[in-house]
Amino acid sequence: MFRLSHLFVIMRIVLHIDMNSYFATVEQQANPFWRGKPVGVCAYLSANGCIIASSIEAKELGIKTGCLVKEARRIYPDIILVENQPDKYRWVTGQIFQILRQHSDKVEPYSIDESFVELTGYVKDYQGAKEMAKQIQQEIKDQVGEWLKCSIGLSYTRYLAKLALTAGESARSAYFV
Ligand SMILES: [Mg+2]
Repeated sequence: MFRLSHLFVIMRIVLHIDMNSYFATVEQQANPFWRGKPVGVCAYLSANGCIIASSIEAKELGIKTGCLVKEARRIYPDIILVENQPDKYRWVTGQIFQILRQHSDKVEPYSIDESFVELTGYVKDYQGAKEMAKQIQQEIKDQVGEWLKCSIGLSYTRYLAKLALTAGESARSAYFV
């Protein structure tokens, strides 16, 4: 039987936005010579310090979050290591959220580099939401930094939007932009 409540469930449109290799990418944005190179953002630069964010290039070498500074240097002696600067990342996050809030009144921060954006009522359908997601990706590049990239999951609940992003694959009513 058709119920009005079903309509609202079906029509909800939620984006989950996750910045890629966030702290490392912000450092590459700030330092153009570091772009395209393995970069590790560390809690501390001492040998037993821990990498809290690796650039895509560092990840490709197997240098991941949690890797020790000495281990990262053993894998790739020329790795660029930098101590984390939370104020810088918070400032960039603020810029990104300003963009998101131009697209919806319902923007919910989830972590420093993740958020949910409810697009219900702001776009006509999922195709419109997909286009909006691509526009958001472009606006972040144009207005905050060209090196910044984000993945966007799109679905009809927060949980599924996050799952769509994590899975990184298309499913019914769930997209990965
Ligand atoms: Mg992230």
